[in-house]
Amino acid sequence: MASDDVRIGGRKIRDLPKVSLHDHLDGGLRPQTVLELADQVGLDLPASDAKGLGAWFSDHIDGGSLEDYLEKFSVTVGVMQTREGLVRTAKEFVEDLAADGVVYGEVRWAPEQHLTGGLSLDEVVDAVQEGIEEGEDAADARGQDIRVGQLLTALRHNDNARDIAELAVSWRGRGVVGFDLAGPEDGFLPSGHRAAFDYLAEQFFPATVHAGEGAGLASIRSALIDGRAPAARPRCAHRQRPGRRLARGRGGAGHFRRPGALGPRP
Ligand SMILES: [Zn+2]
Repeated sequence: MASDDVRIGGRKIRDLPKVSLHDHLDGGLRPQTVLELADQVGLDLPASDAKGLGAWFSDHIDGGSLEDYLEKFSVTVGVMQTREGLVRTAKEFVEDLAADGVVYGEVRWAPEQHLTGGLSLDEVVDAVQEGIEEGEDAADARGQDIRVGQLLTALRHNDNARDIAELAVSWRGRGVVGFDLAGPEDGFLPSGHRAAFDYLAEQFFPATVHAGEGAGLASIRSALIDGRAPAARPRCAHRQRPGRRLARGRGGAGHFRRPGALGPRP
């Protein structure tokens, strides 16, 4: 039986309404889109066709350390440095969620990784928001109702988490529904970003923290205490379909969130 035909109570699983709370924008690109955008910006890729690129990701994405895994995202992040690239990938991301039956989604990504084309932090968030809204409109035109909110990710090995927190709060009510902390984990406890988490708490702004992927209990404890993320959801989404989308999320990852991020796009 093809995976598209799996049914529960006579209904296709794909058609059932779903909520997606842990997807990474730079981990959900269509291989063909990566090829076309790479061609436009002159980026070398490890494969020359969509099938080969999907296979390369499938072969390389699992195994190795968290740091090795994160390195693979240089391929996708590399084609998301222009407004056009960000709008297109965000739009397609939403369309693909809708095709899977998702009615509410949160998509996380790190704005500071998308500045090499000369865009500002504000401009990259604006570009992704435009793409999300275009994707929602395209889904609506097909009779699919979906709302998607942004989670802005700060990188734990950098020292600008407070700036990203302020960026996220400044977009409250305009499409950003939360803050996230991610990146190389070992040696970079959430407590190192206490100023950002204190600010977010003062602003009553939802936060999520990756923890438990690349470090142990101390990291998880710091996520819960310093990140004030008392509700634990222990695994990242991991939905990989070679040939259609590149890897999304990482199996076995830990992720903790403060309650309140879930809700309709304002
Ligand atoms: Zn994640």
